[in-house]
Amino acid sequence: MTDKYIMTVGLEVHVELKTATKIFCSCPTSYGEKPNTVCCPICMGLPGTLPTLNRRVVEYAVKAGIATNCEISELSRNDRKNYFYPDLPKGYQISQYEIPLCRDGYIEIDSKDGKRRIRIQRIHIEEDAGKLIHEDKATLIDCNRCGVPLIEIVSMPDIRSSEEAKSYLKELRSIMLYIGVSDCKMNEGSLRCDVNISVKRPDDVKDGIRCEIKNINSFSFAAKAIEYEFLRQCRVLENGGAVIPETRGYDEKSGKTFCMRSKESADDYRYFPEPDLGVIEIDREYIDGIRETIPELPRSRRARYVSEYGLSASEAELICGDREWSDYFDKAANATKYRKTAANLMISELIPTTQKNDIISPECMADVATLLGSEKINSSVSKKLLKRKYFEEMPSDVVVSEGLEQINDRDHLAELIKKAVEKNPRMAEDVKSGKRNSEKAVVGACMASSGGRANPKLLSELIIELLH
Ligand code: ZN
Ligand code: MN
Repeated sequence: MTDKYIMTVGLEVHVELKTATKIFCSCPTSYGEKPNTVCCPICMGLPGTLPTLNRRVVEYAVKAGIATNCEISELSRNDRKNYFYPDLPKGYQISQYEIPLCRDGYIEIDSKDGKRRIRIQRIHIEEDAGKLIHEDKATLIDCNRCGVPLIEIVSMPDIRSSEEAKSYLKELRSIMLYIGVSDCKMNEGSLRCDVNISVKRPDDVKDGIRCEIKNINSFSFAAKAIEYEFLRQCRVLENGGAVIPETRGYDEKSGKTFCMRSKESADDYRYFPEPDLGVIEIDREYIDGIRETIPELPRSRRARYVSEYGLSASEAELICGDREWSDYFDKAANATKYRKTAANLMISELIPTTQKNDIISPECMADVATLLGSEKINSSVSKKLLKRKYFEEMPSDVVVSEGLEQINDRDHLAELIKKAVEKNPRMAEDVKSGKRNSEKAVVGACMASSGGRANPKLLSELIIELLH
């Protein structure tokens, strides 16, 4: 049934900005404080108070806009979005409506149809609302989140599947982390997403009626909600019904979406220019200044690692999954021509087990990669070298001073094999009779007797040659 329909999905992503203070007052944005301890008359919207726009919020939003290829408005303004909900003591949210700070951007994602460009309609700044805590017989209100700065990133309805939605969200999150405007902690709600979804038949010109699924806080929930909602809407149409425009919720336990209310339209919010704030005026120079602070973004780094350094796509993705690791790798890659070896060492030895603040410098890591790549040391020595501290000397100096060079000399290796077999003649018998793993036992014995320095690959070759 579903193959008769296609889905059209657009995402609205709320990203909490990691400024020290809130958007219109000087309350800290710290998370996890006791309820109602980080709020003031301004963020609670008490009568007689006036908001002052936090300049850092504008800076971060512009940064996000540039990183997602948006046009930046030199002149924009704040608007009031009026609605009643108990977590919004002011009765309105200060947001941006007609003129957002950023518009007409895009990001690129990989999908099963190859590279796809998902357009971004707009990015605007706004304040977060408070939080409702539902207890047995009462609902409590915590205003700590009131006035925490957000950007809302609104995509065009360019997404065609739940996988694409997931890749888009992942890419967007990664960009925000790279430019340092948010920590994007989904479990703390600093990245949340609303899904707009409609279905239509392939030959329909117009999009179908859409529903919005609110406040999803994980990528896989977003994908599941889309799958569920697609199926639901297909069924409605298939049974001759019409989709009703609704705001829906997603229930994590059942994996189902449910109706919350009929969909509000922009008119319902009675948007009007925020009278307590002036226009936001920024100039080219300011925008260009911010442009210069943007690092190379993950997508471009991944491509570079694959095309220039010969890494596999998954290796590149692993390293680029974290900006600090990627910066580290870039430094190391400048110091060795054995870049793939360096990447492999990072992926197997450093990333899974090491604290970034207690780590060998990228230059020393590159030195280890060069030693390993040029077969001057074997991999077990390389692992030991990665765990050491270096002060004046480099790993290559330690290799010389402590005699850790790999033994590549065939005669020397043959001698090791001979001695191992003399000590334990059974091993030679086992190798001859083709017992599984018997060669490994000889390699192990030689590695032990050489203090871990023998070349294991050459050893295996020689063992077959000498003992078979
Ligand atoms: Zn405040
Ligand atoms: Mn919003």
